[in-house]
Amino acid sequence: MLLIYLYIFILGAILGSFYNVVGLRVPLNQSIIKPRSHCPSCKRTLTAVDLVPIFSYLILGGKCRGCGQKISIKYPLIELSTAFLFVLAFYKIGFNWELLTAWTFISLLIIIIVSDIAYMLIPDKILLFFLPLLIIERIWLPLNPWWDSIVGAFFGFGLLFFIAVISKGGMGGGDIKLYFLIGIVLGFKFTLLSFFIATFIGAIYGLGIIMVGKFKKRQPIPFGPFIVVGSLMAYFYGERIINWYINTFYLF
Ligand SMILES: [Zn+2]
Repeated sequence: MLLIYLYIFILGAILGSFYNVVGLRVPLNQSIIKPRSHCPSCKRTLTAVDLVPIFSYLILGGKCRGCGQKISIKYPLIELSTAFLFVLAFYKIGFNWELLTAWTFISLLIIIIVSDIAYMLIPDKILLFFLPLLIIERIWLPLNPWWDSIVGAFFGFGLLFFIAVISKGGMGGGDIKLYFLIGIVLGFKFTLLSFFIATFIGAIYGLGIIMVGKFKKRQPIPFGPFIVVGSLMAYFYGERIINWYINTFYLF
C-alpha cells in the first residue's frame, strides 16, 4: 500500500515538472516539446541530472550547474504541490473513476497557477484543452443530481462575470472562464464555497501586503492562485467546511 502512495507521488512530481513547462510556454505560444528545457540565464540545455523533479533542485542546491545562477524555488514547489495533491486525491477517493476527475482537475489548476503567477494570464488554450475532458468525466461519473454540473458551470461563470462588471474589470477574463470549468467539477454549492474561500484568502493576502507596506496603488494581483486554493479546498473538504460553518455560526 505504501508503495502505491510512493508511485503516485512520483507520478505527480513528474507531471508537476511537465506542468511547469506547459504553464510557462503555452502563454508565449511556444511548443511544449521543443526546445528542451534550458537555463534561462546561460542557455545551457538541461540534462537528466538537472531534470529529476524535486531532487535535482535539492542536490544542485538550487543553482544552475553551468553558471551558478539561482533556480526559482517555484519549480520544486510546483512539483511538490502536484505530487502532494495527487496523493491526497488518492487518499480521499481511492481507486475510483472520480480519482481521474480529481487528477485532471488538479492538473488544470496547477498549470493555471504557473501561468497566472508568471504572466497574470490564464490561457484560453489550457481551458479549451481541459473543458472537453472535464465534461466527459462528469458525464461518465456525474454529480448528484447530474445537472448540478451545468448549474455550477453557468453559476460560476455568471458570478465572476457579474463581479467583473460591477468592479469594472477587477476580475480578469481568464478567471471568469476558469470558473465555468470549476463549476462543472464542483457543482453549484461547492462552486459558491470555493469563491468565498478564494475571496477570503485573497483579502487576507491583500491586508498582509498593505501591512508590510508593499502595496502599490493599482498594482494588479493575480487572483488565479486564490481561486485554485479555494477550489481545491471546496473539492476535498467542502462538506466538512460547510458543516463546520453551520455548527459554529448557526447552532448555538
Ligand atoms: Zn545557467
